[in-house]
Amino acid sequence: MSEHPFIHVAEPLLAGNELKYVTDCVESNWISSLGKYVQDFEQQFAAYCGARYGIATANGTVAIHLLAATLNLGPGDEVIMPSLTFVATANGIHYTGATPVFVDSETETWNIDPETVAAAITPRTKAIFAVHLYGHPADMDPLRDIAEEHGLLLFEDAAEAHGACYKGKRTGGLSDAAIFSFYGNKIITTGEGGIIVTDNEEWAKRAFFLENQGRYNDNPYWHPELAYNYRMTNIQAAIGLAQFEQIDELIAIRRRNADHYRQRLSGIKGLTLPPEAPWATNVYWMYSVLIEDDFGLSRDEVRTQLRQANIDSRPFFYPVHTLPMYNTGQSLPVAESLSAKGLNLPSGATLTPEQIDYVCDTLTNLTNKR
Ligand SMILES: *Cc1c(COP(=O)(O)O)cnc(C)c1O
Repeated sequence: MSEHPFIHVAEPLLAGNELKYVTDCVESNWISSLGKYVQDFEQQFAAYCGARYGIATANGTVAIHLLAATLNLGPGDEVIMPSLTFVATANGIHYTGATPVFVDSETETWNIDPETVAAAITPRTKAIFAVHLYGHPADMDPLRDIAEEHGLLLFEDAAEAHGACYKGKRTGGLSDAAIFSFYGNKIITTGEGGIIVTDNEEWAKRAFFLENQGRYNDNPYWHPELAYNYRMTNIQAAIGLAQFEQIDELIAIRRRNADHYRQRLSGIKGLTLPPEAPWATNVYWMYSVLIEDDFGLSRDEVRTQLRQANIDSRPFFYPVHTLPMYNTGQSLPVAESLSAKGLNLPSGATLTPEQIDYVCDTLTNLTNKR
């Protein structure tokens, strides 16, 4: 067993006004979902994305459900999404009774392959839900063209890609509406948390109504519809606002760490480094590599060896179409291959250059053993 202190995949970096703002919530008694931080956070984060409205939520999963509910999706409706994503993208849609329709990924960006989308469209298709996987934006222009041609809505699951850019424009502002997550390991965090951002005023009002038990402000106990309590608390938003103040630096750190990894790991046989398309700014939520056949060790063997050196890592997600509750029996070869080969190395903003060197030394030494 290694003597090196344990290295986590992702730890939050809470180096700004987090404690000050949380203390303010406690001292002022505003600890539930009323309070100034929620609105400040919503407005500032939405503006950062280039969107007019932000609706903060308890977590990212309910943001997806809330968005789907806001659009009245339900049984019989279909939403096209990549199979290679975190399960929450599919679950949030499925909670409404609508059907997630899974398509393959492209090898260049690991994101939804626009060429597979057109073939998946049926008369029941309502929307395309792109996901910006592991910090790299999806190729949105072709998706936008398909959506316009077929009269579909286009959404982004940007839970892993705060501040990532597509052709110079930030994620969250690239579609009709987007969701983000602020879970503890995301680019910025509120502990648990999420948000919908959109330019659509009607949707923003409806999402706010539905996340507030379906109430109108002037009549607090009249609930004309089945709705939810999906609100973010002022304490969450206080952490979020403090994190948001540091977002440029938090992204710069991840990009600097990715540079460091690239310098140390490029040229190793059988190791594919994460993509960055010419039109993209990757925020490297995860520093993700592919362990190819000619690396000499399998992805899972690499994981075990890293673990013995006190280095944590994560395998890629299983393609959602292979999970028991969705199991469609489809063959989506790119998603399946990426899922089998993909490994997320330690990626958090707390990583030191020494830690990255240690991870790279360990990986390089593995190649000598093969
Ligand atoms: C993190 C994440 C979510 C939302 O997760 P929560 O933990 O509920 O905030 C949704 N989609 C993707 C792709 C994610 O990575």
